[in-house]
Amino acid sequence: MNPQTTDATRQYSTLNTGIRAQWPDHVAKLPGVDLPGKQFLQVALGLSSCEISVNSLQPGTGMPFHHTHRENEEVYIFLKGRGQMQIDGDLIEVGEGSVVRIAPPALRTWRNSGDEQLQYIVIQAREHSLRQSVLTDGVVPPLPVTWPQ
Ligand code: ZN
Repeated sequence: MNPQTTDATRQYSTLNTGIRAQWPDHVAKLPGVDLPGKQFLQVALGLSSCEISVNSLQPGTGMPFHHTHRENEEVYIFLKGRGQMQIDGDLIEVGEGSVVRIAPPALRTWRNSGDEQLQYIVIQAREHSLRQSVLTDGVVPPLPVTWPQ
């Protein structure tokens, strides 16, 4: 796949975040803090309805702060490793296959509690903004599916 496509004449954009073994090499630079292992995708892909990040936390590390959001709910999709989240004082164990949705005002932080990379994807979008979903938004035109040989 092309590393990055943001051609404004096309109705799609692409980005290659690398194989997951390379995700620890990403660094997200936020005001006053660098977050190793995090890559935000919104700007690179021109996302207009959500922010997505791909993440890899080293064993023995965790987020160095708690945070909340003003408008956006977050969904954490865990792909690999073992971790713990604290959400409004509750302790939640997470691992491969765990999905956690957090409302904007909830106070949250998390850490890698295992002995390998904790890898996960975070999606944030404005709470209550989804107007349609699979069956009401999807359109299936009467076209046969063919592929180049
Ligand atoms: Zn957040």
